[in-house]
Amino acid sequence: MAVPISQMWTVASYIVGKRLKGEKRYPLVLMLEPLFRCNLACAGCGKVQYPPHILKKQLTPEECFAAVEEAGVPMVSIPGGEPLLHDRIVEIVNGLIARKKYIYLCTNALELKKRIHEFTPSKYLTFSVHLDGEREHHDMSVCREGGWDLAVEGIKEAVKRGFRVTPNSTFFDGTDPNMVREYFDTVMSLGVEGIVLSPGYSYDKAPDQQHFLGRAKSRRLFRAILSNRKKSWKFNMSPLFLEFLMGKRNYECTPWGSPAYNIFGWQKPCYLLQDGYADSFKELMETTEWENYGAASGNPKCANCMVSCGYEPTAVTHGFGSLAGFFAMAKAALFSTYSDKEALALLDNHSSFVAEREHLVTTIAPAAKLGETNA
Ligand code: SF4
Ligand code: SF4
Repeated sequence: MAVPISQMWTVASYIVGKRLKGEKRYPLVLMLEPLFRCNLACAGCGKVQYPPHILKKQLTPEECFAAVEEAGVPMVSIPGGEPLLHDRIVEIVNGLIARKKYIYLCTNALELKKRIHEFTPSKYLTFSVHLDGEREHHDMSVCREGGWDLAVEGIKEAVKRGFRVTPNSTFFDGTDPNMVREYFDTVMSLGVEGIVLSPGYSYDKAPDQQHFLGRAKSRRLFRAILSNRKKSWKFNMSPLFLEFLMGKRNYECTPWGSPAYNIFGWQKPCYLLQDGYADSFKELMETTEWENYGAASGNPKCANCMVSCGYEPTAVTHGFGSLAGFFAMAKAALFSTYSDKEALALLDNHSSFVAEREHLVTTIAPAAKLGETNA
């Protein structure tokens, strides 16, 4: 696991403190969206489809700080839109660093090389760069030829200047796991701190057996990707969440673990769904009908979901919230190589990973970092 000790200690102390106080629901990372505007138009991204008057709006630094204080989280993920298009993003980042929050600034990195000199390296600041695999796959995913090259230039410059950098990827059913493993080699050779990844979010409008097939397909893909790991690969994520993706653990969603705040207010119930907004964090926690969300709820919107913003908080809380969880996490991080002959056979049979999701409504999901997320 590539997460620095100081960050792990901060998160562990926060969770233990909450448990000692008897709090059952608490957030771990705030998904702070200061704007929806972007300099890309990736297929399936709902953010950039807002009308122009919404795309012009942005949160002020004061609104951002107030939201962070309200939620009381140890970590803040700043997706978008593209945060580097916010004209006061440096002020926002510096204000959060002053408040000792661990920040994941999610960016497509098109502007990163140009603007990196405005930021100061800090253990609290990580650039989480949206990269969806190797060059061809990424450029197709973001609908921009040359996007990969610009992002990689930004990563190299940020690494050279001593910043923490975590490439952040979203993979859907139909991705070739061999390509992903090559991509891991490529990004680790750039000197990044660790990789962040998440399955894409998808749901079938007509509830049927396809829901279960959807989850099974995701597990099969991540089993092929994450088994038989190379020692050189580091992940800036909970190892227990990776085991969940591989089908080795069953977790329920923790939608309040990564609450989302944007120009509309506090989004119910999670970063992916929009079932209304609350005016305050307290109202979000008290008025959301949490039992209606997560795979076990039977909500068709949640049936296929395995994304990091919902399930990584569960894994992190498990890892730091009990001795058994802590030992499982330590074992996974320090000793497990996930040797798996069947997974190797899956890599040989990569043509079987055919995209069969034409019937699915898809949208780009954030790799909620505990974290991560996509720009
Ligand atoms: S299962 Fe996914 S879509 Fe449903 S509440 Fe959790 S994170 Fe949101
Ligand atoms: S997915 Fe991210 S990078 Fe792509 S258009 Fe949406 S906000 Fe921009």
